Amino acid sequence: MEPPAGPGSRFRQPARAWYEKYMQPKILVVEDERDLVGVLEYNLTKEGYAVQSATTGREALKRIAADPLPDLVLLDLMLPDISGTEICKRIRAGERTSQLPVLMLTAKGEEVDRVVGFEVGADDYVTKPFSVRELMLRVRAILRRRGGGGDAAVERIDFGPIRVDVAGHRVEVGGTEVVLSALEFKLLQTLMQRRGRVQSRDVLLADVWEIHADVTTRTVDTHVKRLREKLGAAGSYIETIRGVGYRFRDTVDPTDK
Ligand code: CA
Repeated sequence: MEPPAGPGSRFRQPARAWYEKYMQPKILVVEDERDLVGVLEYNLTKEGYAVQSATTGREALKRIAADPLPDLVLLDLMLPDISGTEICKRIRAGERTSQLPVLMLTAKGEEVDRVVGFEVGADDYVTKPFSVRELMLRVRAILRRRGGGGDAAVERIDFGPIRVDVAGHRVEVGGTEVVLSALEFKLLQTLMQRRGRVQSRDVLLADVWEIHADVTTRTVDTHVKRLREKLGAAGSYIETIRGVGYRFRDTVDPTDK
């Protein structure tokens, strides 16, 4: 989804309230240089993002462990306590956070190949000093790539009782295969890859059905209903966000572990 043009001028109050609650992209800035945090907060807010910041690695991990997950983390490589590479590795290793986009802020000459490579796994990086404009373009590109359309290619999604073999188009719930139609499969995959983030009916129509026209959004509701039924008890991981759309929960029930 495109970030909004400005801080909400187009939105009437109630619409704006739900926009901010459910749809406004949230960015966590992890950076120990307070001046730079200020600059980033100012510019990201101006672009319409909700911004949180952390000045230490420990604080960053605490924030990431709490609900809701941000949509993107801007992560400084050199932090006073835990290195940015270590934090990024932990994000990738976490079940709940493995798909969380990370944009790394590095100084010239730092190990850029490693940062975006398999070992650390950041989505992208910018080298300090960077232009604000350049950074905003990168942020927008990552959010577009990861948030709406063109999700990162994954082969498997394992979450709680649900196992999705993307390449083989197979789904198991609690070890039993569930037969889904191609659309139901794509719907489940999309919701699971974006778990913790609300997907509006329009976004689902565009990304699952690949239609941008105002074809009735009832289609989405009908398919979600059927998908839930097929998933049985695990169907409750798909939450309805009234007046907005759907969200796949990002925490596993203790009874499903
Ligand atoms: Ca630093």
